[in-house]
Amino acid sequence: MITERLRDRIRQTGPVSIAAFMTEALFDPKDGYYATKDPIGAGSDFITAPEISQMFGELMGLWTAQSWIDMGSPDEFQLVELGPGRGTMMADALRAARTVPGFMDAARVNLIEASAALKAVQAQTLGPTGAQIRWVDRLDAVPAGPAIILGNEFLDCLPVRQAIRHKGEWCERMVGLDEDDEGFVFLMGPPMGVDTALIPDTLKDAPDGALVEIRPGDQQVVDLLAERFQAHPGRALLIDYGPAQSEIGDTLQAIKAHEKVAVLDAPGTADLTARVDFQSLLARAAKAELTGYGPEEQGDFLMGLGLEARAAVLSQNAPDKRAQIARQVWRLTDPDQMGQLFKLVCLDSAGLPPPPGFSAS
Ligand code: SAH
Repeated sequence: MITERLRDRIRQTGPVSIAAFMTEALFDPKDGYYATKDPIGAGSDFITAPEISQMFGELMGLWTAQSWIDMGSPDEFQLVELGPGRGTMMADALRAARTVPGFMDAARVNLIEASAALKAVQAQTLGPTGAQIRWVDRLDAVPAGPAIILGNEFLDCLPVRQAIRHKGEWCERMVGLDEDDEGFVFLMGPPMGVDTALIPDTLKDAPDGALVEIRPGDQQVVDLLAERFQAHPGRALLIDYGPAQSEIGDTLQAIKAHEKVAVLDAPGTADLTARVDFQSLLARAAKAELTGYGPEEQGDFLMGLGLEARAAVLSQNAPDKRAQIARQVWRLTDPDQMGQLFKLVCLDSAGLPPPPGFSAS
């Protein structure tokens, strides 16, 4: 059990970082949350945009096809999805994009997925598409050449670290054991030393008691994209939840059966995520010489790509589903639903026209 293993580890070597706790809880190959179950969908722990409506993936497919055209319609390109979940977004995207002549022949689909359980679901969902599909472990294992990379709710589950300002210094927030040695508790760890550099410049002077989240995993993704896009043309679309500007505050949350539960109570049994820091992400991208666009709010983005027109066509084809389709549009775009909190950024290689759906940077 993860709880036992983490307890032993803390007893032996002392408190662990929040990132280490998250890594064990989510990705332990045997008992980790993602390793053991298919968590996505109405009857499960959480629901995502592609699972709300086929229109989400379809618009991503049209965005992808336009991006392929923007890249000069290469005969072969790598279409990569980070954390494809149930494979729904890719299936819907391919259905929409295959209407563009040449697209399906050119696309080589690469799925990057940590969970064996979800890989099996993806194989089932995507089998009927007839696309050439392979699973790869890491972004740098994707074959060379032009690439389009998509990721919905991927960055939010990459492990975060938390820093607390204490007596003028930034200290790492850790997970230890309470006095009776049973439950996990948050503790103030040692000063962060050189890692203080990871804290966004805009927040470095926050007052004592302030908490800042650092996302090394997200930054690593940006660095890998930069490396790839320096050698080959490429474009990435990352969709996730979080503020447009870096903010202080603890946003780590655990979700089980669509409800928030205590973060440290039962590692491995709930999804753990934290808000993505889009400002830091784009700053890192700029430093790595990627062209960055956004963040664009999901509601505006989907409307700009023609969500309402697509909804009208679907409703016309299935009048009995009109109310259901209208509700899907509302969930994806209403500011109090996913429309504002969820945002998109696009990172691409030099020399491409502005990507669809983004105002020029
Ligand atoms: N994109 C899907 C699923 C989002 S949930 C959707 O929108 O429905 C997060 C997904 O990322 C899951 O498929 C999870 O298993 C995968 N994942 C999380 N961290 C990962 C990592 N480090 N490497 C590969 N896959 C990861």
